Amino acid sequence: MDKNQILRKLPPVEKLLEEPKLSNLENSISKSRLVAVLRDSIEEVRQDLIDSMKKGDIPEKSEEDLKRQVISISLNAISSYPYSFKPIVNATGIVLHTNLGRAPLPKEALERIVELSSSYSNLEYDISTGKRGERYDHVRKLLCDITGAQDALVVNNNAAAVLLCLSALAFGKEVIISRGQLVEIGGSFRIPDIMIQSGAQLVEVGTTNKTYIYDYEQAINDNTGLLLKVHTSNFKVVGFSAQVDNHELSCLGEKCNIPVMEDLGSGILVDLKPFGFPEEPTVKDSIKSGMDIVTFSGDKLLGGPQAGIIVGDGKLIEIIKNHPLTRAVRIDKMTLAALEVVLMFYKDEMYENIPTLYMLTKPMKIMEQDAMFLAKGLREKLGDKGTVHIIDDVSEAGGGSFPGHVMPTKAVEVSLKNMSAGELSRRLRNSSVPIIGRVRRDMLVLDVRTMNREDIYKTIEMVESLI
Ligand SMILES: *Cc1c(COP(=O)(O)O)cnc(C)c1O
Repeated sequence: MDKNQILRKLPPVEKLLEEPKLSNLENSISKSRLVAVLRDSIEEVRQDLIDSMKKGDIPEKSEEDLKRQVISISLNAISSYPYSFKPIVNATGIVLHTNLGRAPLPKEALERIVELSSSYSNLEYDISTGKRGERYDHVRKLLCDITGAQDALVVNNNAAAVLLCLSALAFGKEVIISRGQLVEIGGSFRIPDIMIQSGAQLVEVGTTNKTYIYDYEQAINDNTGLLLKVHTSNFKVVGFSAQVDNHELSCLGEKCNIPVMEDLGSGILVDLKPFGFPEEPTVKDSIKSGMDIVTFSGDKLLGGPQAGIIVGDGKLIEIIKNHPLTRAVRIDKMTLAALEVVLMFYKDEMYENIPTLYMLTKPMKIMEQDAMFLAKGLREKLGDKGTVHIIDDVSEAGGGSFPGHVMPTKAVEVSLKNMSAGELSRRLRNSSVPIIGRVRRDMLVLDVRTMNREDIYKTIEMVESLI
């Protein structure tokens, strides 16, 4: 056999891309990097062949042998440097899971991100005048229409929004807050620490469980810069407790000519009470009750991208916008693109298009069907190797929203004969599409509230590959 005949046995890249072992790696490597890795691996094997032929050996390798060798070298190269950041299946039932990326975006928002970031845009350009424009203007009208506020500003996240507002409105001044609202949100965001960072001085009033309007009134002096209300997002005080209502606080602020700000945290834009959720004031309610500034997150109950949204009084927003920190915490164009799409859904009341709202209000009938579909698929793959049951369970909103409130849901419980639930959970977590469920009483529990049909298919496929 001559040299060229042997080298012609090397597999072409296109052929390799059809190999099952290489075709489902999109979670680990980009397509172009995969092609480059395959070319390098083929080249490595080619050099091997040439080297041994130079020494006078005639390599007796079949096409199949060479293909296997190339695949093995490629998989090695890929596994030494796979993507770190990747999609996972959230089977925990916690809709806004901060560690799992909070709100998944609507498809239309993703398409808009691609469109607006793969070309130039009018990010900071006023098309009608041909002059410099402001990035904040793209969502300003929408936010004002949805919340009833005079003006709006968006920044990187809500922690930044709170820091910015305190810095701009109360630097060197006193900020009065109820002792019951000196909260830690998680990820070391603590109101007293943020206050120090902003240069404002914290003045706590009232007690942990009760604060009255006269507590605020007595603390007001010439150096008071702001009255602050913080939503106690992630815990609930039950029993003998009282906080001052927004209207009373805003009347006091108005009387003393001191702005009143509320950090709503999650900040819902629509009332979810008809879906069985507890009473929770919307951003519009807060504005209506007289709050001068309201801040909230873009990726909590709103169901949009990570962002901090500031709405309220026009003059105060102008002061905040002109503060140097605004530039340091500004929103980026991809986020802005997604935010506009999501806010447009709110304006048009197309709530079912927002995945977070859809999952929070998912009809029981759909969850029953999804659970049956998942259970059937798993039973087929497991055969007599394990058992699968559909159970009634409860899921949570998460992300510091509706603390203590649970929603009835459907889940699928899996147990294997030859593997503990802990081990099954570990393996699923480490599979090419990580599946994150919960382990309870030595069973793996998969809550379908946070899974779509695609997630269910992937879960069945991953379980099959593990047993
Ligand atoms: C979540 C939360 C924040 C922080 O918002 P991020 O968008 O995560 O930065 C601040 N305040 C309250 C009350 C919150 O619930």
